[in-house]
Amino acid sequence: MKVTFIGLGNMGGGMAANLVRAGHAVNAFDLSGEALSRARDNGCATFTSVREAVDGVDAVVSMLPNGKIVASVFETDVLGHAPKGAILLDCSTIDVGTARSVTADAVAAGYDMVDAPVSGGIAAANGGTLTFMVGGTDTAFARAEPILSAMGKAVIHAGASGAGQAAKICNNMLLGASMIATCETFAMAEKLGLDPQTFYDISSKASGQNWSMTSYCPVPGVGPTTPADNDYQGGFATALMLKDLKLAMEAAQSVNAHVPMGERAAELYAQFDKAGNGGLDFSAIIQTLKDQA
Ligand code: NAD
Repeated sequence: MKVTFIGLGNMGGGMAANLVRAGHAVNAFDLSGEALSRARDNGCATFTSVREAVDGVDAVVSMLPNGKIVASVFETDVLGHAPKGAILLDCSTIDVGTARSVTADAVAAGYDMVDAPVSGGIAAANGGTLTFMVGGTDTAFARAEPILSAMGKAVIHAGASGAGQAAKICNNMLLGASMIATCETFAMAEKLGLDPQTFYDISSKASGQNWSMTSYCPVPGVGPTTPADNDYQGGFATALMLKDLKLAMEAAQSVNAHVPMGERAAELYAQFDKAGNGGLDFSAIIQTLKDQA
């Protein structure tokens, strides 16, 4: 297939390269010259405008920073410029409302479109092992699935338009809250005189077990190798966790959902980010929980 890829940053760069590896002809567009030159090295054809990049293609994939940019790129330069009938896939993490309104406009203009945000970070994007949560009609999902499969290990149909974004922010709200709960628990266990490894051995086999503990342990030297073992570098940046928690809080408000744990997680990550830790992995929040009396 001929596929346009818009937004070749940390995530999009590797995803576009995987589409090339799967045999697709990829037209790449990004505002950054550096991103375009990396895309060229990875076998993409590069363009200086979205309109040129979408000319004559079968599919358009985007991986952009936020909903405002996604809406502007699709409304201004994709709809009415990509061939009618092309399948459109937005893989960015954005708010549910914008995802639904861009898809509604795309459908009105004669396109199928899905929201298909991802779970998994830069390593999964490079390795083609992302998990995609997809919102859209059955027809749109069936058309999007083979393209997404070339970039991921799992492609799950979450429901109608916007359901992919809803699944993504619900999952990440749970992740943010469970990471903080895991961090404060290890900090308290240590103050009570428990050896962290011993507490891990017990809790990882008891009812406190959770993903933040056993797959992403925030304590260096305990559990599998994680960003904690690398001074909290790499992994999933605090700034991105905060972005997702803000989207979750907006979504909760829009449907009048009561989410006290999610709200507290958003507050704590906002404080941690404000203190200059936005670039650290989100599990680094254990440091402030340890330090605060
Ligand atoms: P990034 O900032 O590295 O990449 C975004 C790219 O979009 C940049 O190259 C930028 O130049 C480009 N861009 C911005 N405006 C543009 C425009 N108008 N037209 C074309 N290109 C434009 O960000 P990222 O880490 O790759 O994240 C992309 C999306 O993926 C975000 O929505 C993020 O929330 C989501 N996400 C990121 C991760 C992660 O670990 N980095 C994990 C899951 C989901």
